[in-house]
Order: sequence, then structure tokens, then C-alpha cells
Amino acid sequence: TTNFVIEGLKATIEGKEILKGINLEMKGGEIHAIMGPNGTGKSTLASALMGHPKYEVTDGSVTLDGEDVLDMAVDERARAGLFLAMQYPSEIAGVTNSDFLRSAINARRGEGNEISLIKFIRQMEGKMKELDMNPEFAHRYLNEGFSGGEKKRNEILQMMLLDPKIVVLDEIDSGLDIDALKIVANGVNAMKSEDRGFLIITHYQRLLNYITPDYVHVMMQGRIVKSGGPELAHRLEAEGYDWVKEELGITD
Ligand code: ADP
Ligand code: MG
Ligand code: MG
Repeated sequence: TTNFVIEGLKATIEGKEILKGINLEMKGGEIHAIMGPNGTGKSTLASALMGHPKYEVTDGSVTLDGEDVLDMAVDERARAGLFLAMQYPSEIAGVTNSDFLRSAINARRGEGNEISLIKFIRQMEGKMKELDMNPEFAHRYLNEGFSGGEKKRNEILQMMLLDPKIVVLDEIDSGLDIDALKIVANGVNAMKSEDRGFLIITHYQRLLNYITPDYVHVMMQGRIVKSGGPELAHRLEAEGYDWVKEELGITD
């Protein structure tokens, strides 16, 4: 089964250390949530996993099924089965959504194993229906003029078609109304499988009413400072983060 291990991960932005030693182990079939106050490095973690050039990893390791992720280029990470919604450019002039999706799928499948056009269209149309997306979306230029909710749905569509091993979703719930949130959550739940792990980064507990995590981690000041089950998310929702700070003697 899938095994994703982050050990002692440290990362800097413009010389400033943001991640101060992240440890996290995920297996296929598990849903992990990372919650935390704003500015604690949650998105930096997602970006470092993605290989964003702005973030310099200075220490630690990340492996997917024993393979060194940090050593891989961004496209190699995708091919290895890592899906990060943010890895996709926000807009690409002249490239339709369906062109983009098909080339992303083929990059993931590898040379000599490309998906046939008929099969691709059938899969794409099926998934778009599940996500209650307007069929004309396939032919629109990628993300051009997409509303916030449409972009999020499109990210879930990409995830469904790419069949990744590890899915990292950063604030997938931000800007979604309750109906769109349910559709996104259903998309994630439908993709749950024994060989796929999810890392769901969210500021709010709301999403976790629809996607039940197996583990909840609290991130503060560049570290995972507390881990628990779904009840931890409920307590954070009810009481905020101050009690965690007090418990750990964190001052800021
Ligand atoms: P979170 O996602 O938990 O809200 P971020 O990872 O976005 O936190 O940010 C963590 C810290 O890194 C913040 O102090 C933020 O100001 C800083 N930071 C994030 N991105 C950049 C950047 N591109 N340049 C400079 N500082 C950044
Ligand atoms: Mg933020
Ligand atoms: Mg963030």
C-alpha cells in the first residue's frame, strides 16, 4: 500500500525559515487533516511538497513508497502519483481544459501508455457529471474566467482523472458555498481507496463535517504541535487555538 513519509522537513522563503521540522506519516486509505491559524506555514508545506521554486527545502526528507520526492522535478512528482491542486498554473492562454487534462493524464500514465481519445472523453464526461459541472467547461480555456467555485471543482476533476496516490488539497473549501462544498466533499469521498492517502489542509472545521478525517494535526509556527482524531477538529472549532497554545506553552 501507499506510504508517504515526511521527516524533519525544514523550508525557507527568502531566507526566512517557515517550516521548522515537519514530521508526518500517511498510508493509503487514510485521510489526514492539517489545521492551524493563519500564517503558520500550511501552504508553505503544500508548496514545498509540490517543489515550488520559491521555497527552499533546507533539511529533512519526503518519500513516496520509498522514493525520494525532494529529488524529483515537479512533473516527476506528479508522475510518481503526488497530486497537489496548486501545481497547476492558474491560467494557460490558448489551452482548453480538456487538452490540459488529457496531457496531464498522459504525463501521469507515461509514454507508450497514453489514454485513447474516446476513453478520455468518456471518463471526463462521466466525472464532470458526478461533479455537476457544465459540459461546456471541457472546451473553455483553462481557468480563464472560472469562478472560485468552478476552479475548485475543476481541481477535483483533475484529481479524479489523474488517479493519484497522495492527494494534497490546500484550502479547497475556501470561497465555496455549501452546495459546492458538498460536491467537492463527495468527490473526495468517492475517491477514497486503500491505496490513496489524502492530506487536507484547512483553516476551518466546516469541510471536515463532510470529509471525516482519520487524523487531525494542528500546525503552529512551522511545526505539527498536536495530533488526534476527528474530535480534535471539533474542539478547535468550538474553542479556537488558544488552549493548544496554553497547553504547549506557546507565546506569540
Ligand atoms: P498558512 O498557509 O498557514 O496561512 P503560509 O504558509 O501561507 O501560512 O505562510 C507562512 C509564513 O510564510 C507567513 O509568515 C507568510 O507571511 C510567509 N510567506 C508565505 N509565502 C511567502 C512568500 N512568497 N514570500 C515571503 N513570505 C511568505
Ligand atoms: Mg494563509
Ligand atoms: Mg495557506
